[in-house]
Amino acid sequence: MNEFELIRTFFARQDVARTDVAAGIGDDAALLQPPAGQQLAVTSDLLVAGVHFLPDADPFSLGHKALAVNLSDLAAMGAEPAWFMLNLALPKADARWLEPFCRGMFELAREHHVQLVGGDTSRGPLAIAIEAHGFVPPGQALRRSGAKAGDRIYVTGTLGDAALALRHRLGGIRLPEHDLAAVADRMDRPTPRVREGMMLRGIAHSAIDISDGLLADLGHILEMSRVGAQINLDKIPVSPVCRSHIRETGWDTVLASGDDYELCFTVPENHVAALEKLRPACGFHPIGVIEAEPGLRIVDESGKPYQPRETGHDHFAEK
Ligand code: ADP
Ligand code: MG
Repeated sequence: MNEFELIRTFFARQDVARTDVAAGIGDDAALLQPPAGQQLAVTSDLLVAGVHFLPDADPFSLGHKALAVNLSDLAAMGAEPAWFMLNLALPKADARWLEPFCRGMFELAREHHVQLVGGDTSRGPLAIAIEAHGFVPPGQALRRSGAKAGDRIYVTGTLGDAALALRHRLGGIRLPEHDLAAVADRMDRPTPRVREGMMLRGIAHSAIDISDGLLADLGHILEMSRVGAQINLDKIPVSPVCRSHIRETGWDTVLASGDDYELCFTVPENHVAALEKLRPACGFHPIGVIEAEPGLRIVDESGKPYQPRETGHDHFAEK
């Protein structure tokens, strides 16, 4: 199969056909019509075999995850996803890999009505880069820099499942079969909180998606907003499976590991009533409060200060 057959066979076929795509795959560039008066939110994420996933990782999950992490970034801005580009380096044109990869990617694309509008394909060590585009009304994007002292801090869903699955796979802990089944999906096929991010327009002061762990990502909000925070361990939402292993793993697994792709956001007191009227299926859970004094203070179940050992993932950290 040559490059053009590959593009035609796997990428040009999709269910989503948006009216704002004047030209998609097939020309030298895509022609896209953003809605009048809206800002374009643009993000990209690079997944490299051996760094972000194991080379033999399930291609269906990889297709889902490569798009999900980008939609999660748009969600964290409060943007409505519309289009994406796919840049792919592949060791060989392997239909048994490409077919499930595209199924995983296009299933999620259909769910969010986002259209693949172009990309590039090359032979090379397996790497997947997606760039996603979305819309947000001017002034309504959720920024990392908007938190104010007195804001309440919330997270969506639950934290720690993806980290638990990863620790099992790396051999650090041994999960029983049914526990692993419950958390592995959360690591392999994360749910981008797109609707929730859009709901938070006009309500949240700041937001970020949790890709490197709560401490690291909330830390970005604190730094960019020049504030501090206090959070309570007993308020952090965890799944029943995650809770049942916390004695063994400790809270650091929940606090300092990424891959959950939940949102962390802050809401001023006078918007809390509006927030509480929203009832997303994943829930909005209060975990603490923004304070004027810089730094992050963590309080454990008995009210004592908690000192984490790890603070999150950093690709260029000196080992
Ligand atoms: P060019 O050589 O002009 O860059 P290509 O031959 O690389 O064009 O690509 C032809 C068309 O196929 C373009 O519209 C491009 O956006 C699209 N395309 C190439 N690779 C991918 C991919 N992995 N996913 C989606 N579209 C792709
Ligand atoms: Mg090209």
